[in-house]
Amino acid sequence: MPALDIARRLILDRLGPLPAEDVSLMDANGRVLAEDVRAPFDMPRWDNSAMDGFALRAADTGPGALLPIARTIAAGDLAGSGLAVGHAIRILTGAPMPPGADTVVPFEEVVEADGAIRLAGTAEPGNHVRSRGGDLREGAIGLPAGRLVGPPEIAVLASFGRTTAAVHRRPRVAILSTGNELLAPGTPLTPSAIYDSNGPMLAAATARAGGIPVALGAAADDHEMLRTLLVEGLRADILITSAGVSTGERDLVRETLAELGAEEVFYQVAIQPGRPFACAFAGATCVLSLPGNPVAAMLTFEVLVRPAIRRLVGVTPAEVAPARARLAEPVQPRPDRVTLQRVTIQRDADGLVATSSGRQATGFLTTLANASAVAFIPSGPSRLPAGTIVDIAFLRHEDAMGEGQ
Ligand code: AMP
Ligand code: MG
Repeated sequence: MPALDIARRLILDRLGPLPAEDVSLMDANGRVLAEDVRAPFDMPRWDNSAMDGFALRAADTGPGALLPIARTIAAGDLAGSGLAVGHAIRILTGAPMPPGADTVVPFEEVVEADGAIRLAGTAEPGNHVRSRGGDLREGAIGLPAGRLVGPPEIAVLASFGRTTAAVHRRPRVAILSTGNELLAPGTPLTPSAIYDSNGPMLAAATARAGGIPVALGAAADDHEMLRTLLVEGLRADILITSAGVSTGERDLVRETLAELGAEEVFYQVAIQPGRPFACAFAGATCVLSLPGNPVAAMLTFEVLVRPAIRRLVGVTPAEVAPARARLAEPVQPRPDRVTLQRVTIQRDADGLVATSSGRQATGFLTTLANASAVAFIPSGPSRLPAGTIVDIAFLRHEDAMGEGQ
């Protein structure tokens, strides 16, 4: 039974970014670049003013110097003829520097009267001038392959005149619930049924992770039906199943997958909840079989499935937990497995504090809905006192795809 980080490694080592596709800039938002994006020209393309002010020669400046204003250059104008010695040209932000001028004195630093400016002091060459190629030289890499695209990256692409970018394809993620007891929400309840909550939950989590969910609904604990839907699911990049992966007699998922040629990489992970988790590969399709219990399904999605989806999207998931927090209350660890505790996070003067979000019984969905993070309680023999520092991972991916790389 692998530890959580080993299990994650066993999955991620078998996955890599999906092939590239060209998409519009808007569709590139939240995706990962599959190309080095090079500057098609120097950025900026010409020396230009960083301020509204006067372009002049530094050599002409000094306390009390009086320089006649020759003309005005605005952004969008050509630089025009050179700057005559002993003169100033009114220049607006972004306008090209006229030949001969080597510095800009902002409006607020001069006194203007009768078509001339009087300076208070000396200006250094290069002041308030953005020099040609100062950001990037033509041909230099502005954005490297592997970069997560957000608004700043879209700005760089647009500044290059690009309307599309090559990004890694989003994985198609098939989602199959299993269990005789399951009914689709919207259908009338029967005495022994429950609504399938894992299917919609995992579809939403998949979309947030950057995958394209393919909802396959629920299969009864019936060999033929399960087989038919698993075959359908194996056409996706990732197939997520939930339930039917424990050791009960109705737990048919693993054996049916094996019949279909899927090779199991591991079964069970040293976590609680979430131990009955299986990973298999059928060709290039990664099959991740989650426990049925909704809390266990959600938590195993976060710690084992989400990283897999991110890997296909092109993100290299972080090796270490993103944050640490102090336990607000004592916690009894398990002797043999890491406990995934649902917590809320507060901040005090000393940093982050993790408080249990409610009863940790695995069936309680509201304790999950009330949680903002999972705390990783290491296995061990003795009670951890309040104040113990543990790893945490946030569960609320408000920025759907914006986690670090
Ligand atoms: P199993 O892994 O099949 O033993 O299921 C464990 C528990 O999770 C049982 O109480 C199931 O009824 C429940 N469960 C399984 N699948 C779902 C689902 N799709 N939605 C809600 N609960 C489920
Ligand atoms: Mg079941």
